[in-house]
Amino acid sequence: MDAQTAQAIELIRSRMPIQELVGRYVALKPSGKGTWKGLCPFHQEKTPSFQVNEAKGLCYCFGCKAGGDIFAFLQKIEGIEFREALERLAQETGVELPQYKGRASARKEALQILELTQAYFRSHLGGEALQYLQARGLTAGSIEQFGLGYAPGSRDGLLKHLQGQGVSPQEALEAGVLMEREGRFFDRFRNRITFPILDSLGRTVAFTARALAQDDNPKYLNSPETPLFKKSLLLYGYPQARPAIRERGRAVVVEGLFDVIALHQMGFSEAVAVLGSSLSAEQAHLLKRADATELYLAFDADEAGRKATLQSLNLEIVRSFVVYAVLLEGGKDPGDLLLLPDGKARFEAALNVALPEVEYRFEVAASGLDLRRPEHKQKVLEALKPRLVSSEPFDRVVEKLKAKVIGALELSPRALEDYLARARSASGRHTQGAAPPRTDRVASLGLSRPDLTEKRLLRELDVIALLYSVPEEEFVQWSLYVEDHTWPPEGSLLADFMQAARSEQGKSRILKHFEQRGEGARLMDVLMKSPSFDQVNLEADRREPTVSWGEHGSARKPRLTLEAHLTVAMARVREVYYEMRLDKLKTQLKSTTDLDEIRALTKDIQEVLQAIEAERRVYKR
Ligand SMILES: [Zn+2]
Repeated sequence: MDAQTAQAIELIRSRMPIQELVGRYVALKPSGKGTWKGLCPFHQEKTPSFQVNEAKGLCYCFGCKAGGDIFAFLQKIEGIEFREALERLAQETGVELPQYKGRASARKEALQILELTQAYFRSHLGGEALQYLQARGLTAGSIEQFGLGYAPGSRDGLLKHLQGQGVSPQEALEAGVLMEREGRFFDRFRNRITFPILDSLGRTVAFTARALAQDDNPKYLNSPETPLFKKSLLLYGYPQARPAIRERGRAVVVEGLFDVIALHQMGFSEAVAVLGSSLSAEQAHLLKRADATELYLAFDADEAGRKATLQSLNLEIVRSFVVYAVLLEGGKDPGDLLLLPDGKARFEAALNVALPEVEYRFEVAASGLDLRRPEHKQKVLEALKPRLVSSEPFDRVVEKLKAKVIGALELSPRALEDYLARARSASGRHTQGAAPPRTDRVASLGLSRPDLTEKRLLRELDVIALLYSVPEEEFVQWSLYVEDHTWPPEGSLLADFMQAARSEQGKSRILKHFEQRGEGARLMDVLMKSPSFDQVNLEADRREPTVSWGEHGSARKPRLTLEAHLTVAMARVREVYYEMRLDKLKTQLKSTTDLDEIRALTKDIQEVLQAIEAERRVYKR
C-alpha cells in the first residue's frame, strides 16, 4: 500500500466512527465509555454479544467471532470486497482515493461506455420488443429492475450514438459493444432484447442479448470477455438477489436469465443464474459471501440432468453448502411458470421436494446393490468414502450422510467411525511423500509442548495488538521494527503476521487474512480486551507527570508510549522464543551420549538461560 492510500484510509477511519457505521445495521446500546453493545448481525442470538469500541475502531462478536474495523464490517455485512468497501466509505466521508495505477482509467472509461450503451438500449425498448417481454409475463417493474432494453436493428445506431458522446469506435470495441471486420466497425447487438450483466458492485460490465427474429442465430449473444467481464466470476442477478440470499440463507441457481427475472417476480428473489453451464468455484464464493448456506440448483429439466448436476459439482463447492437439485415437473423452465396461475406454488413445491445431495449420493452408491449383503455394504462404504472422509469440521452434509449410512446399512456409529479412521490413516500413508502437515512440522522442531506454544501465541498476540494501534501509514514501519527486534521463528504467528505486513495490504486486510485461520478470532479477542491506546497514554501520563512533550507533543506522545510498551512486549516474546529453544536443546541433550555434543549443548543451554534472564530484566525493570 502506498503512503497516499494509507493516509486516505486513516482519514476515512477518523471521519467514520465505527459505532455510526455499525449503528446503521445493528441497534446499539451504550455499555460503558466509548463502547456499545448489540445483537450480532452475523448470527442468531437473544442476548447481545456484539461489541463496538470507538477508540479502537473495532467491532467484534464474542459469540461467533466475527468482527473487524469499519472496512471489514462493511465487507462482511454487504458481502463486498475490500476495494469496494474502501471506495464506498471514501465517497461517503469525502476522502479522495489515489487513482489505481495502470488499467484503472481504461476500466473507468469502459464502464462509462457500457453505461452509455445501457442508456441507449433502455431508451429504445418499445414496440415489438416490449410486447415480447410482456408476452413472457414480465411486469414493468421487473423490466425496470433488471434494466432490460432493446438493441435496434441498424448496423451503426449505437456506433453513431457513442461517437456523438465522444467515444471512439476503438474504445467501444474494447468495451465489447461494437464489432470490427476489415477495419469497419458496427454494432455487436442488432434487433435483440438486451440484458445488462452487472458485476457484484452493481455496475454494468457486459450484455447478453436475445434475438427477436426466429431465424436469428445464436439465440443468445454475449459480450466478449474483457478485463471487466469474466463469465465464470459473475452471477446474473447477484446484486439484486444478494439481500434475499442473506436474509433467507439460501440461493436458487438457474441457467437462464429469463428464469432469474421470472423467479424474482414470483417472489424468489434469491435467484441468480450462471453465465456458463455449471457453477464455478468463484461463483460459489460470491454466494458464500452473501451468507448462503443452502444451494438449490435448478439447471436441468430431467432426472438424468439433475443427477449430472450434482455429480459435476466440485467438492470444494459441495463442502461449503448444503446442496439440493431441483426438478420441475413436465420439463419446464422456471421462466415458463410465470404464465401459469399456480406457477409460484409449483416452484415452491419443487423446492420442497428437491433432492438433497445426501440422498442423491447414497442413491448412486447403493444402486443395484443388495444392502443386506455384507460385501455390498462394503461397496457402498467404498463409494461414499471420499465424501465421508471430509477434512472440514461441522460439515453438515457429511453428518447427514453418516446418519443415512448408519441407518440404511444397519451399522453402529462406532463401526462407521472405525472404518473412516482406518480409511483416513490409509490415505495418510499414501501422501507421506508430500509436505507434512503443520502440526507434524511443529512437533519435529521441538515445539510440541502445548503450554509453551500457547504462551508464545499469547505473547505474540500482545505485540500484534500494539502494532494495530499505530496509524495506517506507520504500520509497516513499526512492523519491520518489531521484526528486527524479535526475529520470529518460522511457523510462528508473528512470522506469518510479518509476512502479511510486508505485503503492504494494510491493517484491515491483514486482520481478514488471519480471520481465515484459527488465530484470527484470538487476535480479535485480544484487540478488544487489551486497553485501548488512549487509555495506555493516560496511564503513561500518570506515571510520568514531569515529562515535557515540547512543541510537537501531540505527535510524539503516542510514539514514546508505544515504544515503551513494545519494548516490554517484545522482550516477553523473545523470552518465550528462547524458552522454546531451551526446550529443544534439553530434548537433544537427553537423546545423545556423544561427549562433544553434550559439551556443545550444555554451552548452548547456558547461553540461552542467560538470554532468558536478560529478557526478564527488560520487563521487570
Ligand atoms: Zn455473532
